[in-house]
Amino acid sequence: MQAELKQVIYVSERTDLSDHSLTNIFDISHKNNPEKGITGCLLVGSNSYLQFLEGPSLAVEALYLKIKVDSRHKNVKKLHDQSIGERLFSSWSMKFAPFHSLEWSNQDFDSGNFLNIKPEGAVNIFHSINEVMNG
Ligand code: FAD
Repeated sequence: MQAELKQVIYVSERTDLSDHSLTNIFDISHKNNPEKGITGCLLVGSNSYLQFLEGPSLAVEALYLKIKVDSRHKNVKKLHDQSIGERLFSSWSMKFAPFHSLEWSNQDFDSGNFLNIKPEGAVNIFHSINEVMNG
């Protein structure tokens, strides 16, 4: 039987703005996520992260708990937690999307600040990214 799938979206405040930190997160995600069946997208803002995680429920929950206590960010707030039938980003072990690589209609997002985003807005952003990047 196939494991139940879920998606989680959270927003957090960056505490470490270094390129080194981003490189480390990128490397560890691409090492760990395929083994765990995790896919998703990490939106890197100027002061914040907005991450979409999806995969087997237990694996997503375990990773979220690990990420939540990572000192490279703080004030981690879960915005969305839902069981799913199908993945949105099935081919991305973790896509890194810098905020300036995307077009925004909202001034806050245009400056890379996701801290006040509402749950529905967060879900919509990832659906738009999926449409733009996957055609
Ligand atoms: P460990 O052996 O615990 O650590 C792996 C490497 O990360 C080591 O080089 C260690 O030095 C370094 N590291 C760990 N914690 C810190 C820290 N606080 N500051 C500096 N360096 C550190 N992990 C994933 O597996 N998948 C993800 O999709 C993912 N997304 C993330 C998104 C964000 C915004 C952040 C902040 C972290 C993310 N992480 C992700 C990293 C996660 O929080 C854990 O650090 C990582 O999963 C630990 O992996 P490990 O137990 O295999 O290795």
